[in-house]
Formats: sequence, C-alpha cells, structure tokens
Amino acid sequence: MRAAIRDPIRLCRALDLPRDLDQLALRAAESFPLMVPLEYVARMQPGDPNDPLLRQVLPLCKEAMNPPGYQADPVGDAAATVAPGLLQKYAGRALMLTSGTCAVHCRYCFRRHFSADQPPAGSDHWHAALNRLVHDTNIEEVILSGGDPLATADARLASLVRQLGDIPHIRRLRIHTRMPIMIPQRVTRSLVDSLRQSRLVTIVVVHANHPAELDSSVANALARLVSAGFPVLNQSVLLRGVNDRAETLTELSRRLIDVPIMPYYLHQLDRVTGAAHFEVPIERGVELVRQMRAELPGYAVPRYVREIPGQPNKTVLA
Ligand SMILES: *Cc1c(COP(=O)(O)O)cnc(C)c1O
Ligand code: SF4
Repeated sequence: MRAAIRDPIRLCRALDLPRDLDQLALRAAESFPLMVPLEYVARMQPGDPNDPLLRQVLPLCKEAMNPPGYQADPVGDAAATVAPGLLQKYAGRALMLTSGTCAVHCRYCFRRHFSADQPPAGSDHWHAALNRLVHDTNIEEVILSGGDPLATADARLASLVRQLGDIPHIRRLRIHTRMPIMIPQRVTRSLVDSLRQSRLVTIVVVHANHPAELDSSVANALARLVSAGFPVLNQSVLLRGVNDRAETLTELSRRLIDVPIMPYYLHQLDRVTGAAHFEVPIERGVELVRQMRAELPGYAVPRYVREIPGQPNKTVLA
C-alpha cells in the first residue's frame, strides 16, 4: 500500500496516457484522492484511456456533475449506525467499519465521502462496536467491511477475530475485502492460518468487476482461501464503461468459477455524489443478466440487486 500510486500525473505517465488527462485528474482528485496499487496498474493496458480497470480509479472532471438524486450518503449509513463504526440494517447481521483505509480508491464507492471522517481505527473504536455486539444477542453474523479489513495488520485483525469468537451468540464472520484483487500477496499463509483458528464459520466476499482483474496471481491468492476451506463469493458493481456488456460479465463469471468462486451480487450503482457517469439504467442491467443466464450455469449468475434505504434486505432486480 505504501508503494501505491497516489499522484494522477504519475499514473498517467506510468500508462503513457495523453497529457491533458492528468490536469483534469488532478482537479477531480481534490475531493477524493487517487490511490491505486502498482499490482493493479500492471493489469491495465498502457495507452488506453478507456481501460476498464483504469476507469475504476482515475479521477475525471465528470465527477463534478451533480444530477438530482445523488447524495453523499445514498444508502442511509448514518441512520443505520448503532455504535461508532457499526452499522445494522438487516436481521441478524451487523457490519463493522474495520479500518479507515482501502487498498484502492474506487471512484464509484458509496463510501467515498466517508473516507476522511471515519472513526479512527484505534482500539477504542472497536471497543464500542464490540461492546454493542456483546449485548445484542440477535446478532449472529458480523461483517468486517471497509475501509478494507485486510488493510489491518495480521496481529490486530487476529485479535479482533478472537474477540468476536469470544461472543457466544456470534456464529459467522464475513470478510468483505477488495484486497486479494488489488494486492494478492496480502493473502499470506499466516493470515489464512489465523482466520482458520477461529471457531466462527468464515466467509470471504471479494469484489472484482472485470475479468482482466483476475490474472493468475489473483486467481492463486483466491485459490489459497478456497483451499483453506472458506467459501469465497464475489460481488461486483454494474458500471458504465467498465462491465456493462454481457460478454464482459459472462467472462467475469467464467473466470470466477474457474477458481472456484461463486458470483454473489451484481450491485446497481448507489447514487453517490460524483459517480453519476457510472450509472447503467436498471432495464439495461436486467437485460444483461438475462443474457448471462442464457450462457452460464445457474450458479454462475449473480443476483442483480439494489440497496434501498429502509428495506429489510437488498432488493433483487433480476
Ligand atoms: C449489504 C449489507 C449487508 C449484507 O447483506 P447480505 O444480503 O446478507 O449480503 C449487511 N449489512 C449492511 C449494512 C449492508 O449494507
Ligand atoms: S475497496 Fe470497497 S470500500 Fe474501498 S473504495 Fe473500493 S468500493 Fe469503496
């Protein structure tokens, strides 16, 4: 993460991109800084400003567009906060904002406006969330989410997992992470071993949007998690100019199943300020899923969902 590119000019030079792009990127990066690991940049096509991986991370002046309906907190996270850094929207599951950082800054992220003012990832922050979990016996699953939980050092993460395992009514641990896609070497043997020590059933949910994200180093990292016995699922966000073609989504599912990882959700974009240019109309998304279903085994087709604040679950669109 320390080696990651955080300067738009450096990214444009590294990829031989047109000169005018970097000035625009510099301006757009003021509100939400660029950050992209070298391991991910290596999977981009040099010279192609429309590269689907680049598009996910390059700040653009289009982010200043602000059509009606787009907001800083489109999914109602503030209203669902039950303790500092702990969200509860759905029965039996609570989501913990584990760390303040991610391995990458995704331009479409619905938490893009939270990164600066998230609670510090100190032990006090976890303490309040853990305290709440101890007292709410209805919670049986804890989701460690982002900031990316694997941006936390092994020892701290192991200590958190141990404390969660000590809460008798918690049965499952879910780790929502984009780290294995971004920096696959983060999936070390010691990380895997420490997760295996927990009595909790542990499910890993990764986030890949395009087949080019899954090169052999990523596939190997994911296979290490699978061979350790963890169910591994993938969620994607449907993004204009990135994965809004049936062939792209179908190829993504094929590569996931090759590992094997189960496609879980295809998310409709959350309407966060700055991300309007990524939106794909729902009718188009439904059609894409129909086309995927005609090509793939049933288990390889993700559920196309959308998050509507106040609903008791994610709303299935197709
Ligand atoms: C999406 C989400 C979950 C998990 O929902 P599943 O449908 O179980 O994957 C849990 N908590 C919050 C706050 C969420 O946004
Ligand atoms: S990894 Fe996830 S939480 Fe982090 S910036 Fe990307 S979409 Fe947002």
